[in-house]
Amino acid sequence: MIPQKTILENLRTYDMEKIAIATLCSHSALQIFHGAKLEGFRTIGICTPDRREFYESYPRARPDVFIEVKKYSDVLSGKVQQELMEENAVVVPHGSFVEYVGAANLEDEFQVPMFGNRRSLQWEGSRKKVREWMQKAGCNVPKEFKKPQDIDTICIVKFSGAKGGKGFFLTTDERDYRKKMEEKIKQKIVSQEDAEHATIQEFINGVRYYYHYFYSPLEKDAEGKRGRVELLSMDKRLESNVEEIYRILAAGTLQELNLNPTYVVTGNAPQTIRESLLPEVYRIGKRVEEASQKLFGGMTGPYCVESVVTPDLRIFAFEISARIVAGTNLFPEGSFLSPYLFGEPMSTGRRIARELKNGLKQNALEKLVY
Ligand code: ATP
Repeated sequence: MIPQKTILENLRTYDMEKIAIATLCSHSALQIFHGAKLEGFRTIGICTPDRREFYESYPRARPDVFIEVKKYSDVLSGKVQQELMEENAVVVPHGSFVEYVGAANLEDEFQVPMFGNRRSLQWEGSRKKVREWMQKAGCNVPKEFKKPQDIDTICIVKFSGAKGGKGFFLTTDERDYRKKMEEKIKQKIVSQEDAEHATIQEFINGVRYYYHYFYSPLEKDAEGKRGRVELLSMDKRLESNVEEIYRILAAGTLQELNLNPTYVVTGNAPQTIRESLLPEVYRIGKRVEEASQKLFGGMTGPYCVESVVTPDLRIFAFEISARIVAGTNLFPEGSFLSPYLFGEPMSTGRRIARELKNGLKQNALEKLVY
């Protein structure tokens, strides 16, 4: 892990009048560039040739500078890193950035200042650590089973890494588990190693909500203490094929058709939640932030808690992302909550840029990057 000291030394070589916001052209890049432009920043898009045309087609979100790479992991090359630093770039990491480049590579090799605390990548990338974090934050979490023999309820079986639900399956007992796992390995959907490290988790039946928070170390909270958690928006992921699997049921039951639901993310849909649940949703965000302070020095900027709300209105958290999530793309002009915080359209992308702008004004950029 590159020490924060080294990254801050790199930041000190920057021309503070010319800070640029950079990210990979994927995931939530349009939103990040759009927000950065609204806040008056120059923008840099790291792009593969096949995607350039698309990112050039939206004038209000088009990066001012393109750095072309053959593949996204080339962002680690000395040349690209140097170019970014010469451009005074602060990089905003997003889900695809972490997926394509690799959390460990970012931690150990990427010298360019990034928005937020890069230590959080280790935590959000490990299911075990995320569980510890959620428990420390006092969240209700689904039960987990160490061995397939222990399964005593409907379970979802998950594999490691940010695979967006790829390969996940439902099971009800050990026999069914072994049969389905063998099929997955045979079809090369999961590797033997992934299978050995699978997580067997109680399937929570209810409605899913993915809450988008932002933590600002610069703002003050309602009690006047430094550090504010903002609940900006929420979404629900659209996952194939579970989302619309009911459409096939006219042909027979899932068992008759030998079909299993799958959970591959294909998009996102906006959500609201009943107002009586909002105080608890807000508290979850606060507690997750407070726990992150204790575990790894805290998060700065956007994060997300993924949850299921059950019919008795309990909120079960099953995942944390310590960065901007793609569900925020639904709200480039703000959400049903952001007008109560800001008197102008505020997306998560713009909120990041606003924080950097405030950091520059207050000479406190070092609190915001690592
Ligand atoms: P990502 O890293 O992209 O968030 P992931 O690989 O960590 O994905 P999860 O987010 O944990 O996977 O789960 C993927 C999907 O599986 C969820 O969006 C949700 O639909 C479903 N899911 C996961 N855990 C549960 C659970 N305990 N109960 C019900 N559904 C679940």
